[in-house]
Amino acid sequence: MLLTIATTHRPATDLGFLLHKNPARAQTFDLAFGKAHVFYPEASEDRCEAALLLDVDPVGLVRGSGGNRRGLLTEYISDRPYVASSFLSVAIARVFGSALGGRSKERPELAATPLPLVATVAALPCRGGEAAVRRLFEPLGYCVRVEPSEELIAGETDGERPAASSRYRNVALEARLPLRDLLAHLYVLIPVLDNDKHYWVGEAEVEKLIARGGDWLAAHPERTFITRRYLKQQPRLATEALRRLADEEGDAADAEAAPGRDREHALEAPARLNDQRMDAVVAALHAAGTADVVDLGCGEGKLIKALLPHAQFMHIVGVDASVRTLEIAARRLKLARAPDAERGRVTLLHGALTYRDRRLEGFGAAALVEVIEHLEPGRLRALEHALFRFAKPKTVVVTTPNREYNALFPGLPADRLRHPDHRFEWTRAEFAAWAGAVAEAWNYTVAYQSIGEADATHGPPTQMAVFSRCA
Ligand code: SAH
Repeated sequence: MLLTIATTHRPATDLGFLLHKNPARAQTFDLAFGKAHVFYPEASEDRCEAALLLDVDPVGLVRGSGGNRRGLLTEYISDRPYVASSFLSVAIARVFGSALGGRSKERPELAATPLPLVATVAALPCRGGEAAVRRLFEPLGYCVRVEPSEELIAGETDGERPAASSRYRNVALEARLPLRDLLAHLYVLIPVLDNDKHYWVGEAEVEKLIARGGDWLAAHPERTFITRRYLKQQPRLATEALRRLADEEGDAADAEAAPGRDREHALEAPARLNDQRMDAVVAALHAAGTADVVDLGCGEGKLIKALLPHAQFMHIVGVDASVRTLEIAARRLKLARAPDAERGRVTLLHGALTYRDRRLEGFGAAALVEVIEHLEPGRLRALEHALFRFAKPKTVVVTTPNREYNALFPGLPADRLRHPDHRFEWTRAEFAAWAGAVAEAWNYTVAYQSIGEADATHGPPTQMAVFSRCA
């Protein structure tokens, strides 16, 4: 049972600080069901790879008489010792507990920073096959590679071979995200794919699911499937967990908006579009060299969350017309629990973008991420005045869907927009016409950028304009 995690972040050996495991030293940990070994097949500045090898003791499993080991006997002759299962989740929590909790003594800022990561899991039992792996990981932004892994199982089990091994896969998952998120995804989703647990599932499992999934599971299109399987189909526990996840995200209060948001996410998820969008906006704001940013129509605070790890942004203000959404943002950003220094950097304001607002004047930069298409076209002029005439930040970053690209979303009828609350979606030419006229009217220059993988005919899924105020 082998998990590897590699990064090309530089210096790549920072991975050792994040995992709290020294790349120069192999270590072994005793667990109830065997041993976990941690070692680094590669540790250079350019690439560093950590491996977690589980050595499950099948005899010990049978002998063990603890209450929660009930039923392990039957598994002695099955695949358990050889495949990635809930044992691996337990080992992740035990051996990489600090990293899973997002804590790093030596590199605290890196613990929350998206890094280029590749995880491989050997012999992952996948009920539902490759499609199940993709359904679970792709919406989280992973590029997924799946190969059958029959040889490994057959080779390792001498005599008592697991019956059918076609459900085992070697899986590689690649994404740019904080290490703690990768570990949390594996922790929850490995047992979900396996659809089994080596221990009794009770109330404590709901707590674990909320603790590890609270940040991402509520928005996952497969959250119901994941929750049911994680809790071993116990309806009472699953209902409780789903209710708590909804609370956590404020989805319960926000119910009428949820179906549309789900649809938009489901459409765009395979393109990892949301992450790419946030990366592009953060990069543009970074390039603008600004210390203070106002996020107009901040919604649930995704951009603010992406800005926080960068110390450059000392003062971040989120503005939204929806009080409920701001409450969700405050909760998601954990403002109430944040250290003073972090809390002091973020302010959430209730406001309308179509009225002059003196609180928003004097900022270095403003961002409108997927916001303009929510305004009635007739109100755009009011936004232009409030922003470009009165607030006048040096830099304004605007992103909006490229309508031409909708043709490539298989589930979207030709005459529909991506979200029921969108009042319009523009082609590239329409966006450029608007942005060019605005820049001209208010003494800005404007540059355009594609976000997401561009199609030769239809262009990119998202378009971005960066306005710079002329001196
Ligand atoms: N920027 C966020 C949210 C996009 S959804 C993200 O990328 O995730 C659009 C947001 O704009 C919603 O939260 C909505 O409440 C807000 N919004 C729409 N019209 C607004 C207006 N006139 N004034 C302030 N906020 C508005």
